Amino acid sequence: MKRLSILGSTGSIGTQALDVIANSQEDYEVEALAAGSRVEQLAEQIRRFRPKLASVHSKEDAERLRLLTDSSVKIVWGPEGLKEAAAGTEADLVITAVVGSMGLGPTLAAIEAGKDIGLANKETLVSAGHLVTEAAAKRGVRLLPIDSEHSAIFQCLNGEKTEAVRRLIITASGGSFRDRTREQLRGVTVKEALNHPNWSMGAKITIDSATMVNKGLEVIEAHWLFGMDYDRISVLLHAESVIHSMVEFRDNSVMAQLGNPDMRVPIQYALTYPERRPTPTEPLDLTKIGLLHFREMDYERFPLLKLAYDCGRAGGTLPAVFNAANETAVARFLNGEIPFLAIEEIIARTVEGQSREANPGLDELLEADAAARRRAAEIRPEG
Ligand code: NDP
Ligand code: MG
Repeated sequence: MKRLSILGSTGSIGTQALDVIANSQEDYEVEALAAGSRVEQLAEQIRRFRPKLASVHSKEDAERLRLLTDSSVKIVWGPEGLKEAAAGTEADLVITAVVGSMGLGPTLAAIEAGKDIGLANKETLVSAGHLVTEAAAKRGVRLLPIDSEHSAIFQCLNGEKTEAVRRLIITASGGSFRDRTREQLRGVTVKEALNHPNWSMGAKITIDSATMVNKGLEVIEAHWLFGMDYDRISVLLHAESVIHSMVEFRDNSVMAQLGNPDMRVPIQYALTYPERRPTPTEPLDLTKIGLLHFREMDYERFPLLKLAYDCGRAGGTLPAVFNAANETAVARFLNGEIPFLAIEEIIARTVEGQSREANPGLDELLEADAAARRRAAEIRPEG
């Protein structure tokens, strides 16, 4: 019996995690569920999975939730509530599936409380990779990847020695605009950007896929999860999203993990590792797929991927600045405030304007994150 806490239970990853749990409910106990403001959906989850604790975004959300649930569940709210859901229960493993660097505080709290992490919230590792990995190593807890690419690499590395690895090859579908030129990106709508060809995900990560920022975040995530230099992490365009990522070894063997695009597979692997169990996903039928396509990454078409590598290599506060600028720019795009290509301009101008501090502590990182958000919110795009 594994005891779980899920942060972001009403989102795309959160609901798929609950789907995995529902499939094998005798193996799991849900200790806590944390969501933002989708209170009716959370109340339904509480009835079904009977957690001891539930956390929501605000006091008003908590009051609304109270009316919808019986008194046996403790209801908390805000950043402190989220932390309690992460660290204040009997959970063995915490699934971090909130969006953005707001996941950092609760993730660190969960690690300090000795809980393994099922890591979906990549922004946390991007912003504070050195602090999170250091804390995990010190506390002896595992960071189990849920991101499909990292789960693939994790599976390919199973039982291998780090010295034997030449490079990690992260695959990228190319997102909703992969077949458009840069010229054709002018004037694209939010609705078009939200239409991902292979995956159904939350809004923010779908936009990140279209700008290729998602792949940039994943490169930095891989750097921290697998302790790999940036020179040994490459990105390959692969339209079908069937190969979820690969590892090339020094003898020129390449290991790949394949499957239909279904997040329930990597989510479940993080929960059952090192065991494998059946999943409700369709088996992969390569004869139906027929062809798999690969293209070299085009850094001119996707300049934000190059900028992510640069920020990752520079280290210090820069990855946090890159991430915070992106979160702000994407929110502005989703609000209809700026055109799609202005996301690039805002991130580039925010990164340029910030000084880089080497080896920052948590307070300095949070300051850099807040300053980058202020700057990114003020920039009036020219392009
Ligand atoms: P969604 O937008 O679908 O879900 C976000 C979740 O966070 C919701 O449950 C939302 O609650 C919750 N939330 C929002 N505000 C708060 C708050 N203040 N306190 C607590 N919870 C809050 O996102 P995704 O599931 O798509 O993504 C989650 C993370 O996983 C991201 O970091 C993403 O990059 C990563 N990821 C996602 C993948 C995917 O397939 N979706 C694949 C790989 C990684 P509510 O809706 O109730 O407001
Ligand atoms: Mg991914």
